[in-house]
Amino acid sequence: MPELPEVEVFVRNLQPAVGQTIQRANVLDHRLNLDASLIEGLSIEAIARRGKHIVIHLEDGSDVVVHLRMSGRLRLHRSPEEVKYTRLELVLDSGDTIYFVNPRRLGTVTYCPVGFAPSLGIEPLSPEFTSHTFATLASKSRSPIKLFLLDQRKVAGIGNIYASESLWRSGISPQRPANGLSDSEMCRLHENIIAVLNDAIDGQGTTLGSSVSDYHPSVGEQGEFQNHLSVYGKEDEPCERCGNAISRLKQGGRSTYYCTSCQN
Ligand SMILES: [Zn+2]
Repeated sequence: MPELPEVEVFVRNLQPAVGQTIQRANVLDHRLNLDASLIEGLSIEAIARRGKHIVIHLEDGSDVVVHLRMSGRLRLHRSPEEVKYTRLELVLDSGDTIYFVNPRRLGTVTYCPVGFAPSLGIEPLSPEFTSHTFATLASKSRSPIKLFLLDQRKVAGIGNIYASESLWRSGISPQRPANGLSDSEMCRLHENIIAVLNDAIDGQGTTLGSSVSDYHPSVGEQGEFQNHLSVYGKEDEPCERCGNAISRLKQGGRSTYYCTSCQN
């Protein structure tokens, strides 16, 4: 599933659409429940990321919010073209088109007439995400730290890959209760969350497979951060810090990868 870095890469690549007007919206999947007439003729004021959502701000104060879920993508193409599994096309006045491609139809598009008001937690790449704020949030939770990191109402945008990676970088066991970490551990984890997310954005995100459902930052391209993962998907491989075999654990129905020797 695209997490914060992958969604951020899509958002950055969509920036040329800002300032353009949506001439036509072709809704090609009835499940999307979007009335094209509400957004046609409006200009795009901004395209931003909030957690794992892509928010298209329109000039009348409304937002079109796209959540990619497992396999979706949202891309700008310079000339009209047939793109397989396209569920929505936003044709802009320059002739550019934004394509919402959604092979497994799990992604969603939501129209918010008065703007997007999500119950999402703090943005980990915003200035508000200080180690103090992070520690205060964690001190109120008895959940294992890995599950705390996945809770979008606490910190927005971190998913399974980057939670595992930031805990490994910090040498912290994913099973520790969030409120049981020391100040210095919280400080380290805070720093490593920011670092791993920025490293992944710099690497254009993580592409784990080669199917049409996998994340691709642009046509025919893959992210490259999968080459820099230390634990995620590496069960039984040697830990690059201590040589111990990486373990896999189920937490909240999801796999957690970690090193039982150097993550305490
Ligand atoms: Zn290790």
